[in-house]
Amino acid sequence: MTRRQLREMQLSPGDNEGPVAILWCRLCATRPQWPCRHPTRGFLLRVDLAKPKRTPTLAQERALDRAMAARQTCGQCRRRFDICLSKKLGCCLECFDGTPVHPSSLMTLPAPAVHRLAA
Ligand SMILES: [Zn+2]
Repeated sequence: MTRRQLREMQLSPGDNEGPVAILWCRLCATRPQWPCRHPTRGFLLRVDLAKPKRTPTLAQERALDRAMAARQTCGQCRRRFDICLSKKLGCCLECFDGTPVHPSSLMTLPAPAVHRLAA
C-alpha cells in the first residue's frame, strides 16, 4: 500500500520504518540505472504495521483551542472572533480604527465592559 492508500483507509504508517518495496514504472524497472521521476513510482508500506490515525485527545484539543483563542481574541475588547486577528494589531479592527465588526464574525458575546479609566 502506498502512504496515500493507507491514508484513505484512515491509517497512518504506524510502525513502518521504511518502504518494503518500491513501485517503479515499467520503463524504469527495465532501465534501473535511470533516475526515475515517473509518478507511478511509490513507496509501499505494510498494512499490518499501519496504525489507525490518532484522533486528538481531549487535552490536545483543549490546548489547540487555547492556542486558537489567543489568536482570535481581541486584546482590548476580549471578544473572540472566528477568524485569526492580525498579530501586529493584537486587537480587532473595531478597537484599532473603529471599523465596525460584523456580528457574524464573532464567536462569543461581548465580554462585560471593563472600565480601565479611574473616575
Ligand atoms: Zn476589539
